Amino acid sequence: MIQFDNSYLRDLPGTYLRQAPDVAPAPEVVVFNEALAATLGLQIDDAAGWFSGALVPPGADPAALAYAGHQFGGFSPSLGDGRAHLLGEFLGPDGRRWDLQLKGSGRTPFSRGGDGKAALGPMLREYLISEAMAALAIPTTRSLAVVTTGESVRREDGALPGAVVARVAASHIRVGTFQFFHVRGEGDKLRALMEYTIARHYPGVDGALGLFDAVAQAQARLIAQWMGVGFVHGVMNTDNMALSGETIDYGPCAFMEDYVPGTVFSSIDRQGRYAYANQPLILGWNLARLAETLLGFFDSDADKAVDIANERLGGIAALYRDAWVDVMRAKLGLQGAEACDGALADDFLLAIQGVDWTLAFRRLAGAVSDEAAYLALFEDATLLKAWLPRWHARRHPDAAVAMRAVNPSVVPRNHLVEAALQAATAGDMAPFNALLAQVRDPFGPEAGREAFTLPAPSGFGRYVTYC
Ligand code: AMP
Ligand code: MG
Ligand code: MG
Repeated sequence: MIQFDNSYLRDLPGTYLRQAPDVAPAPEVVVFNEALAATLGLQIDDAAGWFSGALVPPGADPAALAYAGHQFGGFSPSLGDGRAHLLGEFLGPDGRRWDLQLKGSGRTPFSRGGDGKAALGPMLREYLISEAMAALAIPTTRSLAVVTTGESVRREDGALPGAVVARVAASHIRVGTFQFFHVRGEGDKLRALMEYTIARHYPGVDGALGLFDAVAQAQARLIAQWMGVGFVHGVMNTDNMALSGETIDYGPCAFMEDYVPGTVFSSIDRQGRYAYANQPLILGWNLARLAETLLGFFDSDADKAVDIANERLGGIAALYRDAWVDVMRAKLGLQGAEACDGALADDFLLAIQGVDWTLAFRRLAGAVSDEAAYLALFEDATLLKAWLPRWHARRHPDAAVAMRAVNPSVVPRNHLVEAALQAATAGDMAPFNALLAQVRDPFGPEAGREAFTLPAPSGFGRYVTYC
């Protein structure tokens, strides 16, 4: 039994369409997150039925939510959940409210040409990467289960096993949700959505401007944390940017290995709009789209409202920079905070170009006592050798332990993710489960699990992701 309390449907009429998920013919649980279910106080009576959509749990009220979105810069006024069903909301033991949503659970009125389905590989990818992000202490939606449906779905590479991922999220309110009502001129619904979002995520903030500032802060911190672990989201469209500040929509995302600022994995990101180093700029771009929807609430005088928005948007770069420098202070084991820390971090990045991002940070802790071993990671250590004395002068004397607690030895490496998903698609879950266990312990020692800590063999080549 889950005690549902469906506030979104109750408080925001006209922002969703009720829609039952498809009945999967032969649902089978492939992976179930028992630890998460326990933490959330969930009693799952029928995981295969509930999490495939075959059986709607009592109290659930399935719906597809409306939203719009800028996709790669082009505006789509009507997207919405085309293959997802919000089952409902529940309160965790700490009183926090969660959405329970299925993805891959069938067509909705928002599906347009799509089949409403999902293949097993991408749903397991969401499960794995979101678990990795949670273990890395980065805000994210969580995965409760992946269930195969017993159907096959047609994709470019042929017929694949169909699956549904059940996920929980602080909410599914996106920048694109605000855009949907703004572009239609539905001011009353927009106001209701704004008030609902404030009450649910940022209680106590003062009106539209308070909401904007809170979201900007949360998103700036989030992107700074992505940058810290080399995460490339891959599809930072406004419909994939949650107002809660959680990472949402694990499509073509991947972790960068060699540090190259222009790194892109997604096959559809041909211009590199969502390249690693562009993510902070897209943060600002997306926040500008959010501000546009709120202008009418910033001030009744249109010129004043634009001035207010421009003043806020002009501050985003500095807001992000502060968040990023904070992340870097921890990663570099610095003592206290000084004005020169940003420059020290910038110069470290210059020194590690082309070096494995994860290991460049992880093994730096070892350079507290043994520089030579660390230098072995570098083909050309010229910049690094000039940088190390500056770092020693700024770092905490006992930096190593704290650094290892924030710099992962294990992230989901692309060659392992691919191998795990391929095996799973062929019916063998062992590699997936082994990788899952490792990414859930990201800060443990390198020794003894080199298969998971070392970069892809060079034969793996350039990694391309599809969504
Ligand atoms: P995404 O790229 O996952 O952010 O999705 C963008 C939009 O496409 C959303 O409105 C999705 O619901 C929709 N969509 C993605 N895949 C499918 C599918 N297989 N069937 C129907 N709609 C889909
Ligand atoms: Mg999406
Ligand atoms: Mg997606």
